[in-house]
Amino acid sequence: MSIHGKKRMVTSKAEEVLTQSNALFRALIDKSSDIIVLANAEGMLTYISSSVTHIMGYSPEELVGSPALGLVHPDDLAVMQQVSGAIQQAPETSLRAEYRLRCKDGLWRWFEGVGTNLLDDPEVGAIIGNFRDITERKQVEEALQAEEQRFRMVWESASDAMSLSDREGKVLAANPAYYQLYGFKPEDVLGQPFSIIFSKEQQAWAQALYQATFESEKRDASIESTVVRADGTIRIVEASYDFLVQHGRRIAMISIIRDITERKQTQEQLQASEERFRALLERSADAISLLNKEGRRLYSTPASARIVGYEPTEYVGEETFGHIHPDDVQHVRHVLVAIIQQPGKSLPAHFRVRHKNGQWVWIEGTGTNLLDHPSVQAVVVNYRDFTERKHLEEALRQSKEQLEVILQNIADGISVQETSGAIVYMNEAGAKLCGYTSPAEVLRVPDFQTQHAYTLQRFEILDAQGKPFPLAELPGSRALRGEQAPQAIVQYYDRVSQTRRWSLVRAQPIVDEDGQVQLAVTIFSDITEAYEAEQRKDEFIGMASHELKTPITTVKGLTQLVKRKLEKQGAPELIAIMSTIETQLNRLTKLVNELLDISKIQAGRLDYAEEPIDIDELIQSIVNTAQLTNTTHTITVQGTAHKHILGDRDRLEQVFLNLISNAVKYSPQADTVALRMTTSQEKVIVGVQDFGVGIPQEHQDKIFERFYRVADETTKAFPGLGMGLYISSEIVKRHGGEITVESEEGKGSLFAVSLPVVS
Ligand code: ADP
Repeated sequence: MSIHGKKRMVTSKAEEVLTQSNALFRALIDKSSDIIVLANAEGMLTYISSSVTHIMGYSPEELVGSPALGLVHPDDLAVMQQVSGAIQQAPETSLRAEYRLRCKDGLWRWFEGVGTNLLDDPEVGAIIGNFRDITERKQVEEALQAEEQRFRMVWESASDAMSLSDREGKVLAANPAYYQLYGFKPEDVLGQPFSIIFSKEQQAWAQALYQATFESEKRDASIESTVVRADGTIRIVEASYDFLVQHGRRIAMISIIRDITERKQTQEQLQASEERFRALLERSADAISLLNKEGRRLYSTPASARIVGYEPTEYVGEETFGHIHPDDVQHVRHVLVAIIQQPGKSLPAHFRVRHKNGQWVWIEGTGTNLLDHPSVQAVVVNYRDFTERKHLEEALRQSKEQLEVILQNIADGISVQETSGAIVYMNEAGAKLCGYTSPAEVLRVPDFQTQHAYTLQRFEILDAQGKPFPLAELPGSRALRGEQAPQAIVQYYDRVSQTRRWSLVRAQPIVDEDGQVQLAVTIFSDITEAYEAEQRKDEFIGMASHELKTPITTVKGLTQLVKRKLEKQGAPELIAIMSTIETQLNRLTKLVNELLDISKIQAGRLDYAEEPIDIDELIQSIVNTAQLTNTTHTITVQGTAHKHILGDRDRLEQVFLNLISNAVKYSPQADTVALRMTTSQEKVIVGVQDFGVGIPQEHQDKIFERFYRVADETTKAFPGLGMGLYISSEIVKRHGGEITVESEEGKGSLFAVSLPVVS
């Protein structure tokens, strides 16, 4: 209750009435929830109603006599001083103010006070102040203000466009996001029908829809639509709405419009990429199934129909193990459990599955645990039919096993070396031959030097002549250098048993697509028995030719004696017979000599002299000798060497006489044999050319072998044993030179002897 400046008329009625009414007012005042104060012109409190006690905690006596503004908050004091000054100056007027006062407990509370100057009123003679506690109201006000502030912030900073429109659709307010979205300015929109944001054609329709929505009881969820912005660009929006209700009546609509253009686009892109992935999966040759953590099939790609005969839909939800071969179930279950136990784990498995047609199909599958992956949540199994491959593998394994059995049981030793020379495979026989107890013992040390050293501990490795065999010249080493089919006869002297064995060692390089040597395969054939038989044969030939020599020499001497006696007696017929006997004896001597030479060569016992020889002189004398015995052909010499060589004159003579006699023998239709001499810094080359039958290409590199003869129709008719060229080439080799041949069938041959010269 407040007391406003109204003149109070106190009449002179009975004292009693007055006292009564006084008591009534006092009671009213004291019980009031307001505090009533009186202050004098000096601003001192002269009266305070007792309501001050329960509101502020002071007793009236405590405050009477103190300044009226004594409890005012320092921040409010200046204003209050102004207000109370104004009150004092204006009698009979009231002024209102809000301010804080200090209570007895020391806390500040808000009060609203009204002061009225009744100093001039004879019945009051004071300033009446009346104030009430408004602390609660103040707090509510502040809270409201803060709330309002927050709402405004949301409104201002929301990314969604928002507008408020009244019953008729007039826009009352819109937030910045709204202007941003539509591209309008506030002045274009505020107070205008909301439909202004639509195209001209759509405005009437939009207005009608608005009205209907406003009236309708039914509430739609959000509405998706397109918006043409003021600049003509198009956005996709999602709009939702709500109503402001007062007294049960809708008074305004709040629209919230969200720009979902980007979201839409990413959604579309996602969808497109999902479709792409699905298409990829479904067209993949491998089948893919998704299993849940119980192992049940959630999904299968169409490829599974091709592999197992069932359509994916026939399968879904079924226990995966249902179709698996009973022998494989345990294994597959094992693998699946291991996969399921560990997120991200991936394991392969091979197993059989019954095809719809009843046959077993071999499956090769890999399961990966993606149960934790938010967009998969399954065990992903990729699988393919590998029945055919399985059969192939099986066949391959069998043939490999067969091969292995063969390799391990054949008498020949077999080893495989890699490019470093290290042996990576060896069969039983090979291992034995190298002094090992088993192949495993060889393969334990993976380097060639160690392996070779091990072999050398047990064996001396020698060539046919009994000299140490150089490591780099072993056929395996040569094959690794790319040489095709190198071979050698190798002698193994076993230090333990002190026996000798001979092996024919053949090797072959294995190359990759680029022709690079990857491996060398070596085969050791034990030829000891054959080799020894051959040696016995050689020894026999040696012995036989040696034994033949003495009787022939005797017969030859006696023949000459008889011939001389007959010449003295003059018996021409018998002399002619004796000459024929002599010629045949000479042929026989030559053959026996050649046989003897061969056995000497074999035994490494052919002796050579080493003397300087003038090559021009040597050749000339050979030609002279040859010409004496050959009457059918003219032997010519072209060129001179002016060089000396170091060697055995008789042996070299043997070489050239042999070449010349071959040239004559194999060119019965011709009449010349041409010798040609050419030289270089280090060597002299003597060519012996004939114009005879020639040598077929395939025989050319074999004619220097012992006892080799070309056995075709043309050459069969010529007598001979295939010894001459072998002996010649051995002699030339011993001189550090070589013999080569160039020949064309029916045209003739050119044998070239090259010998190193001495300076
Ligand atoms: P032979 O005593 O059989 O002539 P050789 O060792 O001298 O033995 O020759 C070996 C083979 O080489 C001969 O059998 C012959 O087929 C062939 N040959 C050697 N020289 C000639 C040549 N000048 N023309 C054609 N063939 C030749």
